[in-house]
Amino acid sequence: MSLDRLWAGWRSKYVSTVAGKQHDCFLCAIAALPDDARLVSESTLVLERTASTLTVMNLFPYGSGHLLVAPLEHIGDLTKLTDEVAVELMRAQRRAVRAIQQVYGCEGINLGANLGQAAGAGVPNHLHFHALPRWVGDTNFMTTVAETRVVPEALEAGWQKLHASWR
Ligand SMILES: [Zn+2]
Repeated sequence: MSLDRLWAGWRSKYVSTVAGKQHDCFLCAIAALPDDARLVSESTLVLERTASTLTVMNLFPYGSGHLLVAPLEHIGDLTKLTDEVAVELMRAQRRAVRAIQQVYGCEGINLGANLGQAAGAGVPNHLHFHALPRWVGDTNFMTTVAETRVVPEALEAGWQKLHASWR
């Protein structure tokens, strides 16, 4: 299964859940949800929304605790972010890393972005950073992708644990 297909799954899920509004980009679909108590919830898998960033569980994770951190704005070019948004994006990634460390007690974390389709970005026009826990001896997530990995934890259970430790 290609990353494009994984992301297509993301899109259809969110297009169908954002009533009355069609979004080609799943991150924009989430960003368009009302910014109230319903947004950060188990049903949306949103962990955090700030004035300029969004952090969500990856619906098609490489493993438990796989988060995506993105600017609210639909922008694909890292170099075109304002300094303010770039700083907020890094702060959001630090909060994601802290929560992943606390919840999963992992030995390492993959944190990074695929910039452009050639680099493997499934949604090249909306910048997003991946953050996921790693352990010595686990399989390389970039080579196995989702075909053979078993995610031992339901997304909702992961959301509950991460949300409880978020600060
Ligand atoms: Zn977007």
